[in-house]
Amino acid sequence: CGIVAYIGYREACPIILKGLRRLEYRGYDSAGVALLNGALNVYKKKGKVNELEKFIAEKDTHAHIGMGHTRWATHGEPNDSNAHPHYSTSERIAIIHNGIIENYAALKTHLQKQGHVFQSDTDTEVFVNLIEEIQKQNSCSLEEAVRLALHEVVGAYAIVVLSKDDPGQLIAARKGSPLVIGVGKDEFFLASDATPIIEYTNEVVYVNDYEIVVIRDGKLDIRSKEDVQQTPYIQKLELEL
Ligand code: GLU
Repeated sequence: CGIVAYIGYREACPIILKGLRRLEYRGYDSAGVALLNGALNVYKKKGKVNELEKFIAEKDTHAHIGMGHTRWATHGEPNDSNAHPHYSTSERIAIIHNGIIENYAALKTHLQKQGHVFQSDTDTEVFVNLIEEIQKQNSCSLEEAVRLALHEVVGAYAIVVLSKDDPGQLIAARKGSPLVIGVGKDEFFLASDATPIIEYTNEVVYVNDYEIVVIRDGKLDIRSKEDVQQTPYIQKLELEL
């Protein structure tokens, strides 16, 4: 239900947890984070952001790239394994997702035949395995695999994807569910709305339906589903903190 992601020079985890709290008003049943620091670690828990924070207190959360999610269950009961982020089968790719993938059942059957193993009952886990399968079959970049996957899923989504094989990169996309980019100096934020972002920067870009966002090497690249580069429209927010 809520998405927050960060890439930059600061510690990602505190920014993400604070951002998830700012999105709490949207309602949720579980929360989780994925942190990319050479390893790709996923920590998630049923319950409030406080539960998650207690759970990760003893873990190594040092990272400059990461993403967090608060879930409002649509497919699969609220529990730890259905909480986001979700890994692909190889655990090399992780995803967070707001929305619903309507054709997940058919995709799941197909992916299981190709050897993918599922750890949750969510529609979301199908999305990340689809990306992994497409990348494997086409030997393509993660960005290209995400783009191709978007042509196969039916439904609504805002997603953020991280991969262990692309340690300096954050990819996002949306259709139907909101997604905002915060443009800072040498840092970027992503969130479901601007409330987690405004304390860091007032420059935002509202992602349009069917756009794919790639942030790497301090640069923001937005493309259409047909892979045509878009010019980001940066808006200045004047919101009270
Ligand atoms: N459909 C997904 C799930 O049930 C995402 C729900 C959400 O938007 O939080 O896990």
